[in-house]
Amino acid sequence: MSERFEQGMSTLRKQMDARVVSYLSSCVNCGVCAEACLFYTETGDPRYTPIYKVEPLRRLWHGEYTFWGKLASAFGFGSTLTEQDFADWEELVYDGCTMCGRCSMVCPVGIDIAYMIRKVKEGLAAAGYSPDDLKSAAQRAVEIGSPMGVTLATLQATISVQEKECGIPITMDREGADYLCLFSSGEIVGFPEFIGSIARIFKAADVSWTISSDYFEATNTGVQIGNSAVAAQLIERIVSAAEKLKVKYVISPECGHAYTTIRWDAPNIIGRPLPFDVVHILELLDQLRREGRLKTRGSTDMHLTYHDPCNISRRGGVVREPRHLLDMVAPNFEEMSDHGAMNWCCGGGGGVSTIERARDLRTRVFNVKKRQLDEIGVEAVVTACSNCRHTWEDGLEAYGPEEDVVELIGLTELVARYLVEDESRAR
Ligand code: SF4
Ligand code: SF4
Repeated sequence: MSERFEQGMSTLRKQMDARVVSYLSSCVNCGVCAEACLFYTETGDPRYTPIYKVEPLRRLWHGEYTFWGKLASAFGFGSTLTEQDFADWEELVYDGCTMCGRCSMVCPVGIDIAYMIRKVKEGLAAAGYSPDDLKSAAQRAVEIGSPMGVTLATLQATISVQEKECGIPITMDREGADYLCLFSSGEIVGFPEFIGSIARIFKAADVSWTISSDYFEATNTGVQIGNSAVAAQLIERIVSAAEKLKVKYVISPECGHAYTTIRWDAPNIIGRPLPFDVVHILELLDQLRREGRLKTRGSTDMHLTYHDPCNISRRGGVVREPRHLLDMVAPNFEEMSDHGAMNWCCGGGGGVSTIERARDLRTRVFNVKKRQLDEIGVEAVVTACSNCRHTWEDGLEAYGPEEDVVELIGLTELVARYLVEDESRAR
């Protein structure tokens, strides 16, 4: 038994908390979760069924926590885990699961399968069985502060361009601002107009906000790879930045898993409550709308739909807010067949979009989104997660030029297009 395998087994044993034990002892093997998972429905491969992905955890539980399992082990008949099992499950849990949580929604006995898959990742990562792309991203996140290697200088240059484009100064490190805004590296690099959009909206709505030069990254690669120590380290950087600037709120940007991590998981990961409230950008925009501080004029005549990012809608509960905002600016909005809490994942969440070897699988499972699009035939897809947006771009490109003409838009950016910046002109 190698030292790294022992380390992985030891870490996997530590994941055996009360929730995991109760989940594993409650599973009735009904198979309902299988039909909820895009990796199974689009491939037909039984190895991608959600419950099979947690098999290493189940085997460990059965062998070491159940009477019959312990008895079998005592007589040498136990089903023990091997290093080869770890190697085999690496592709299943990293490439073949986006942690979207759709399976958890349908389990008749309430098992949160995605929670257990996250636990399996902890064991595999500790044993070294995680994709190299994610390992490198985690290393960059720790060393540079960004999984994509985005530096402060890059952010400052991006802000400078956005300031010129929107004609509004953006002040970093403003102590005592109400809100601290985070960004994902994917946003800074791929969709920098998000920064200009919020600058315009916040100015029009008189929101006091800032950005920290100490730490601005929303993405948490520690969560994606399954390394709680790295996850905690990255969360602590956000806490330090927020405390230093004495803000009341932290804004999670258009990034799905970043929201779940900082809003719902962070206190458990770092072992104490956060000294600020967390709000998703769409929650804040909807609040500003309710308060009459966000006003728009005109609307797009495009026939469009909204892709619910799994971590924002299903796992985060931000379902009505984007629709309120779309009501303001998109009268020709049409829902996809499955939407809101039961949306289908884009196939790139949970770190899957970072894994180059998973490209073919990602394209295959994106077929579920293509079917949904074909049903309604829209001109544009709006979403609120930069990672979803990148995955949609890749998916549509892979499905051919006629699919590639569908426009992809961030919701914040769409709202900003119709923003009333001079209140006296508002309707
Ligand atoms: S979390 Fe999503 S991708 Fe992962 S097993 Fe469940 S349904 Fe499939
Ligand atoms: S739906 Fe729930 S009970 Fe049924 S196999 Fe999946 S995890 Fe087990």
